[in-house]
Amino acid sequence: MNTYDLVVIGGGSGGVRAARIAAGHGAKVAICEEFRYGGTCVIRGCVPKKMMVYAAHYHEDFEDSRHYGWNTNVESFDWSRLISNKDTEIDRLNSIYENLLKNAGVEILYGTASLLDANTVKLGDQTLNTEKILIASGGTPFLPEIDGIEHAISSNEVFHLDSQPKSAVVVGGGYIAVEFAGIFNGIGTDTTLVYRGPQILRGFDEDIRSHLATEITKKGIDLRLENNVEKIALDTNGAKVVSFTDGTTKTVDCVLFATGRTPNTEALNLQNANIELGRKGEIKVDKYSRTNVQNIFAVGDVTDRIALTPVATMEGHAFADTFFGNNERFADHTNVPSAVFSQPPIGSVGLSEHDARDKYGNVDTYSSEFKILKHTLTENTERTLMKLIVATDTDVVVGAHMVGPDAAEIMQGIAIAIKAGATKADFDATVGIHPSTAEEFCTMRTKDSK
Ligand code: NDP
Repeated sequence: MNTYDLVVIGGGSGGVRAARIAAGHGAKVAICEEFRYGGTCVIRGCVPKKMMVYAAHYHEDFEDSRHYGWNTNVESFDWSRLISNKDTEIDRLNSIYENLLKNAGVEILYGTASLLDANTVKLGDQTLNTEKILIASGGTPFLPEIDGIEHAISSNEVFHLDSQPKSAVVVGGGYIAVEFAGIFNGIGTDTTLVYRGPQILRGFDEDIRSHLATEITKKGIDLRLENNVEKIALDTNGAKVVSFTDGTTKTVDCVLFATGRTPNTEALNLQNANIELGRKGEIKVDKYSRTNVQNIFAVGDVTDRIALTPVATMEGHAFADTFFGNNERFADHTNVPSAVFSQPPIGSVGLSEHDARDKYGNVDTYSSEFKILKHTLTENTERTLMKLIVATDTDVVVGAHMVGPDAAEIMQGIAIAIKAGATKADFDATVGIHPSTAEEFCTMRTKDSK
């Protein structure tokens, strides 16, 4: 039997970071992965998705460029070239991840791991004895059990479709649904986005949600709210006939369900170590990512805290430093910025106006809605929205949100200011970069009248 200080289950962002850092602190570490090193983010999530977002945005860029003097004559979009180039890059990243682990001295193992008890991991016919276990097994797409769901795909399959769908129904109103609706629409697929609630992106600031809904509708997405897919059938040509709860139907090439993700714990035999799970099947942990079992820990999506790659790496790093580096610390889950790579994208950090009012009572908001300079020459009707939320009593900026080009790039810097506790007076005292979109965050002087 092999003996380790740490066995990590799951080779995604959180697991790889924890394994590398723990090994760097001198621990004897093995890591197990059943699919490919890199995890959801690198293999079938954030990274390939962002490449597809770039691909989709060219459509608008070609149009816009004509107004800047270019005679662009774009004939068609080649789906298989995009998928093949994307796959080449993902292969490269996959081997980078493996090399990072090798170079750190981590033993790399393949296969589906499960627990035999609190100190023993089974991997195929291998048995690994270990002092500590870190579970970083991520999440898996959830698809509701409706009639004909076998005709739908999830975000796992969307990265490998044989051809570009001519038409698609995307189901859900979260990050993945909104992002893929934008990708399909941008590359010329007739796209319907159906969401069961009154507005997409529940949890985001209301103004941001409605602004994005308006913009994606202007760009051609058929957005159907307070509606859902009831069943899917095949017609004689193999096309998917989607029946909606409002009684209408639509026949399309592709139905993508982006209806959330569930923690990936099924194969782990967690009951053999009596690990406690939460309501959604997530592994319950404390602020040090420790489960109810003293030597077993969990980080990333499997814990259902904040399902974002940089959060998983932060949790994995803090775990490794605390338990192998003699540097006790824990991941700070406050003011985590995020972006939705819709078209236009959203960038967001801190509280929505609704949550800020709940928490602080007195809140001032400042917002600016405008056409960016670039589009003064184009016929693109896209409009940008930027919004700051300020706690009246302290002047501290408690939320910043934007829908518009480069929102993710802009919001990363704003997030530093908010993390540092910047006040509205600090924003006002900061000189803008002119001409830019971002400068608007430093020039909003008039409170919204509400
Ligand atoms: P989300 O939880 O964000 O969204 C799921 C959506 O599906 C919600 O709109 C939900 O509706 C809807 N839904 C759930 N169940 C059903 C059902 N039975 N029928 C119809 N609709 C349903 O999940 P995603 O899958 O979009 O993404 C998972 C997570 O991955 C995100 O929360 C995010 O943390 C992360 N992610 C981050 C990205 C980024 O940083 N850019 C990109 C992609 C993913 P309701 O709101 O009513 O519950």
